[in-house]
Amino acid sequence: MGAQLVRPLVVVTNREPYADERTRSGTRHVQKAGGVVSALDPLLREIGGDWVAWGSGSADRETSPGGVRPVPLANPRYRLHRVYLTPEEVQGYYTRYANQGLWPLSHMLVERARFSRRAWPIYRSVNGKFARRVARESRPSALVFSHDYQLALVPTLVRQLRPDLAIAHFWHIPWPVFPVLRLCPQYQELLKGLLGADVLGFQTDDDVEAFLTAVQRTFRQARVDLENQHVYWQNRTVQVQSFPISVDVKAIEEIVATPRITRWSHGIRRRLLRPGQQLGVSVDRADYTKGIIPRLEALREFFHRYPERMGQVVFLQVVVPTRSEVHAYRTLFHDVERETHRINEEFGHGDWAPVVTLRRSLDRDRLMGLFRAADFALVSSLFDGMNLVAKEFVSAQIDRRGVLLLSETAGAAQELDAALTVSPWDPEGFAATLDQALSLPLEERQQRLRTMQQHLHRHTLYDWVTDILTALDSTAYAIER
Ligand code: UDP
Repeated sequence: MGAQLVRPLVVVTNREPYADERTRSGTRHVQKAGGVVSALDPLLREIGGDWVAWGSGSADRETSPGGVRPVPLANPRYRLHRVYLTPEEVQGYYTRYANQGLWPLSHMLVERARFSRRAWPIYRSVNGKFARRVARESRPSALVFSHDYQLALVPTLVRQLRPDLAIAHFWHIPWPVFPVLRLCPQYQELLKGLLGADVLGFQTDDDVEAFLTAVQRTFRQARVDLENQHVYWQNRTVQVQSFPISVDVKAIEEIVATPRITRWSHGIRRRLLRPGQQLGVSVDRADYTKGIIPRLEALREFFHRYPERMGQVVFLQVVVPTRSEVHAYRTLFHDVERETHRINEEFGHGDWAPVVTLRRSLDRDRLMGLFRAADFALVSSLFDGMNLVAKEFVSAQIDRRGVLLLSETAGAAQELDAALTVSPWDPEGFAATLDQALSLPLEERQQRLRTMQQHLHRHTLYDWVTDILTALDSTAYAIER
């Protein structure tokens, strides 16, 4: 990557890019995976800057005197400022308000949302802690790039403390339609918090429209320009725009073409498949928004309706443990195991089990190798801001053989329109589309993948960062890759 710095950059996220964990023999740093880290860490390493995040690692205090951890330790390029939280703060701000309130509400799963009166003041005060740290650490006229539903109040709180800073905030998950948003008792405060930004980014135009509508319906003193996607608010203009996050498609192509991952990818097929069988994959955090159970229901429906397909497919689902502090997440695993067992009992025979479950995470390289190996991928989210897995699968398909079945309610479906769309609410339709996918001629598979790969080459992860930062200040950055 080549980048030029004109103004200093301050990134603000809930999760830190590197956590230091205590081990028996000392400390170990763990790089946190995920789209934001893999886009912004290389950028900050190149141009320098500051990153403010929750210091969640067990050895974080030891490696960051004064709360500052140089990255990388040996040859510092940027400063990670760690915000430390008490267990009560983690519980109130993160587990309860963000993950049990805002997360399900934003994914429009209203029945699951709970907004605790006790959690709200904690959410607000932790946002204040982040904002004060940003205000203290930012150099004059810096650009602040803050993220997501855990930090919705940061833009306004930072602006109050440091009016010289330019602020972009990106909301990574869906934005709920107004009648749903209104169910949150603090929705007006959340809107006000976000309107402190100069640029407010969402994944899709639907999210932008829903946000602008909410502002229009809530504040008489705000002037909303739907066409130009502006809000005039407290003598300022807030630009509200969609910036779909993406992947580093070139890096993925390079990883999957290495001899090591090529061997691994062929090995997976040899281990799991008999001649003539097709390999399906899915990779999700064990989150109820991912539609894992509806997908298994669709698979049962599939074998019922198309018994001739029995023995023709092996479906490998990677289900990654997540947010185990929330009850709904713990119970999901049992449900997945029960449904999987049911399918394998009902349809499996001989040494053929239709569904294989891996209950763990995979490192990035192997995961991309798995995507390369697959004949089809199933993404069945009920709602999803983007779904990077879908874009990664398309990027990793360098042999151009795989079919993507993609939920129409994942943000990625707006761009990957050469995928076969499925609905997690329609098991019969899902099953029929899977049947169609298995018989799709190679030429059509290639054509569909080519279209989507071209799109990803034109809209990379680095374009995403560049687009947001240049919306904030058209002269601020030039990033090349
Ligand atoms: N991921 C990973 N290892 C795993 C499973 C997932 O590195 O075992 C990564 C995956 O490659 C993707 C991200 O986690 O980049 C998941 O992003 P996505 O947008 O699909 O869903 P989210 O988990 O953010 O809701």
